Amino acid sequence: MPSSNQIIFFDTTLRDGEQSPGCTMHHAEKLRIAHQLATLGVDIIEAGFPIASRGDFESVRAIATEIRGPRIASLARAKREDIEAAARAVEPALRPRIHTFLSTSDLHLAAKLRISREQAIDQIAEMVAFARTFVDDVEFSPEDATRTDPEFLLKVCEVAIQAGATTLNLPDTVGYCLPHDYAAMFRTVLERVPGAKDIVLSAHCHDDLGLAVANSLAAIEAGVRQVECSINGIGERAGNAALEELAAILMVRKDKLPYENGIVMDELFRTSQMLTDCISFGAAPNKAIVGANAFAHASGIHQHGVLANPLTYEILTPASVGYHGQHIVLGKHSGRRALEHRLSELGHKLTKPELDQVYTRFTELADRKKAIYDQDIVALLHASRSQANTLQSEAVTA
Ligand SMILES: [Zn+2]
Repeated sequence: MPSSNQIIFFDTTLRDGEQSPGCTMHHAEKLRIAHQLATLGVDIIEAGFPIASRGDFESVRAIATEIRGPRIASLARAKREDIEAAARAVEPALRPRIHTFLSTSDLHLAAKLRISREQAIDQIAEMVAFARTFVDDVEFSPEDATRTDPEFLLKVCEVAIQAGATTLNLPDTVGYCLPHDYAAMFRTVLERVPGAKDIVLSAHCHDDLGLAVANSLAAIEAGVRQVECSINGIGERAGNAALEELAAILMVRKDKLPYENGIVMDELFRTSQMLTDCISFGAAPNKAIVGANAFAHASGIHQHGVLANPLTYEILTPASVGYHGQHIVLGKHSGRRALEHRLSELGHKLTKPELDQVYTRFTELADRKKAIYDQDIVALLHASRSQANTLQSEAVTA
């Protein structure tokens, strides 16, 4: 097991995320996100895939030039021209990394690469060593690791480490693995691959079965110290492990997960919102941590509880992840206490009879209208008060 309990957050929003449908970003948007990722405290920004296009190359180079703090990683297939492009793109970075990969499952070797296992081994050894001629920090990923023959995978890992890989990432490329199997794979690598304990092992999980975060956590418990993830969980198909979820789990369940990391928690919401501004969709409303409803309490019983003590229904406060909006949603399930609380937040102190009257009007309105906004309840209050004044003045004149 590694001696350090520090978890390295490797963010791939700008690479795996950006290459997925609806997530294309312009140069300026990528730079804006990269600056925010640095503020968020990620350890490594995977900035792009420079061989893919001129635009990708320029973005990686600009990020490598401007961003200080995180390491800047650049993706390359295990090919000479890819590695050269990646090396040129990250060259301005203070701490550059080349991340190179080659598929190792028999299915990918036969159907995609049309090479034998032996050829794959030679190519990995040669290209990892080639990448090391440019930088000291080289990550190697055997693509489709979780569907690679287990014995062959151990050989691949050994060869990559011998060739100079300093991080070994074993991706669940197709989101197929179960948590205990993913953990077992890393334990076997740590036990049986010479040198595995001296480098960083990394998890990269896809969410095709909704297991990306669970698999990443299982990997951490098996000795992995780098997790690859993205903001809002964007990425190929169903996406990558969501950075905000991993960070929140490590914070909220520190009792069971004694690990450290550098994520600045109250920057999470802002980062998620900024990404939403740049791509064509936002997090689902019920998305954990950053969804619009993640801290919304709509039922009267829950609202009463949260107002009395947020711990009744909240395991982390909205403010802890940088969310400062209204978290009580008023609707027909809301109780009197929630209404009173919201009105007092808006600066209105009500007597008990006033509250009773406004509440009656509120429930009538809530039957007709799905969401009730601040201006609605203020209007109800004014209507109720002016009616009370009229009744009073009529009583005086009578
Ligand atoms: Zn991926």
